Parts: sequence; C-alpha cells; structure tokens
Amino acid sequence: MEAELKGLLSDLQSLKDSLPDPSHRNSVDKIRARLEHLKLGNAQRSKIKDMSAEVVDSNPYSRLMALQRMGIVDNYERIREFSVAIVGIGGVGSVAAEMLTRCGIGRLLLYDYDKVELANMNRLFFRPEQVGMTKTDAAVQTLSDINPDVVLESYTLNIATVQGFETFMSSLKNKSFRPDKEGTGVDLVLSCVDNYEARMVVNQACNELNQTWMESGVSENAVSGHIQLLVPGETACFACAPPLGVVAGLLVQNTLKYLLKFGNVTPYLKEYILAKPARVAAARAKMEAEAFVEPECLHADNEWNISVVDDSDPHSNASSGALPEGLVHELPSADEFQKPPASAETTATPIDDLEDLRRQLDALNAD
Ligand SMILES: [Zn+2]
Repeated sequence: MEAELKGLLSDLQSLKDSLPDPSHRNSVDKIRARLEHLKLGNAQRSKIKDMSAEVVDSNPYSRLMALQRMGIVDNYERIREFSVAIVGIGGVGSVAAEMLTRCGIGRLLLYDYDKVELANMNRLFFRPEQVGMTKTDAAVQTLSDINPDVVLESYTLNIATVQGFETFMSSLKNKSFRPDKEGTGVDLVLSCVDNYEARMVVNQACNELNQTWMESGVSENAVSGHIQLLVPGETACFACAPPLGVVAGLLVQNTLKYLLKFGNVTPYLKEYILAKPARVAAARAKMEAEAFVEPECLHADNEWNISVVDDSDPHSNASSGALPEGLVHELPSADEFQKPPASAETTATPIDDLEDLRRQLDALNAD
C-alpha cells in the first residue's frame, strides 16, 4: 500500500510537470494533497489504554504526565474522564479543540453550521484539501489523526434554530460517555462563537441545564480579547453581565469624568473580564475587609444618600479606578500614573523619575 501510494504520487508529479495550464496543475495538487493525507492516515498511531509517564520518544503523553511528576497536577490521567463541548469551530474554537485534543481530553463535542472555505486559510487549523467539508467533520478528521484516544462528536447544526437548539440541548445531556456523571453529560461548554445572538443561545441552554460554561471573544483587530467564566446560580449570567455592557459602563464613566472634570480620566485601561464564582469573591471580600481602611467621605450628608469619596489620592482604596467585582486591571490603574506634576516641595530629581519609570516598565514586562 505504502509503495503503491508513493508510485501514484510520483506519477502525479510527472503529470503535473507536463501540464501547460496552471489551473489543471492546481487540480493535480489537490489530488496529491488528498493522497498525502491517505499516506499520513496509514501512519496514524493506535489507541493507548493507560497514560504512561515513561519518558520515551514514542510516548505522546510523557510531557503531559511530567506535570504530575513535578507535583503541579495530582492525577493528570483524570483528563480522560472529562467531556468538553466547543460551540463555534472558527479561529478560537478550532485551535482550542486542537490544544485539548493534544492534551488528551476524554471527549470533545464540536458544534458549527459552516463549511471550510479557502478564505479560512489565514487562520490556523484547517487545510486547503478540506475545502467544502463541514467545519466539524474536517475538525474530527484532523483531530482523530492527532490523537485517536479522544472521543470526537461532530454536530453540524445551527444552535440558533429551533431544531438545532433541541439537538444541542439533548447532546449536552447525553451521558453515554460517563453514565455515573452528575449533572449533564459534559463538564464544560466553551463558547467560541463570533456573534451576540449565538452567545445568548449558549447562555439560555446553560441556564436551563445549570451548566458551567466559559465565554470567549476576540476583538475585530485581533489584538485583544476576553474570557468569562459563567456558573449558573453563582455568577451573573451572560445576559445580565455581557462584556459589551461592562465596557460601555467603563467608557461612559470615563466620558463623564472627562466632560465634567472630576476624578482621573483613564488614559489606557484594558480589562479581562474574569467574573469569579460567588464563593471566591466572598473569600476575597473577607480578606480585604480585614485590611480595609474606611475612606474619608467628602460629602457625608446629601439627600440621595450617595457616598462620595475623594479619588484624587492615588493610594485610596476607593479610588474611581476601582473596578466592579470580577474585573482586574491588566495594567496598573491610571491613578498610579497620574501623579500631579512635580511641585516645589517634591524632592525627586528627574533622574529618579526616569529610574522609577524604568522600574515600572520592567515590572510590566515581567508579567
Ligand atoms: Zn442573568
């Protein structure tokens, strides 16, 4: 079989060389790519029953099992018990699926209604010879070659249609992979879709099933993104705390500060939305309460019972740069940079300021 394939490939090469028309040569290239895939398919490894930590070149799990030997993970092999559903097999979903497959996840459920196009080749994962296949089928083809131990399920459907939603729900509930499992049949749903409506559908399904999920998104210029953990009953759901609403709130707050000249206008603020489960938030709130010093009120009495604190002090706990629960600054808040211009009583020389700045930059780069 191997020798026959090699012969076919070299025959195709001579045929291609003899063709004057470039479009015919392209067609020959496509056939060659399919044959190459068949050749690779023959080299596919067989399934592995138990994950071994043995450090040999032939063990695909030796580097992962090292996490256990180094004491980072108690029992890495438990990864095989988990089912993860990935909704949207595009730029984020396909690569997340490949990473989880390489990590030896037990089962992946893949959802998308689209087909592979040549226009998708700017991204990682899909290959030109898969053009025309559904994205979920093409993903199963590639992923089963990479790691045949992973149970892969392809769902070519649109979760936003009535029928698609029903199949989506019943596939999440299906427990045939692990009948003993509590809750639904999956451990986590990853939303890797590219539009608000689809996120709301995932939100609805997960709320109805009491299913923990993670939302992800990448900005159009692909230089920033967000992830958000959603635990029904513990965190706000996606409808109640969409990233768009949070960002809009921060933007309007900054606009009012700029226009009405109060507080400190934030020059640059980039947030990762990290909504934390209530229990984590409660534990942190308790820790912070112990170290919390009541900020001095500027206007203790007002008819609206609004508590106003001075945020011109850059070290105040309650500065205007304080973020709602669940948000963290990626960079230090604007307040830390907006020290008033050096006045007469400032003893720092310009050299000290430069060194301070360099230290701050080093600290940022170290992250
Ligand atoms: Zn809600």
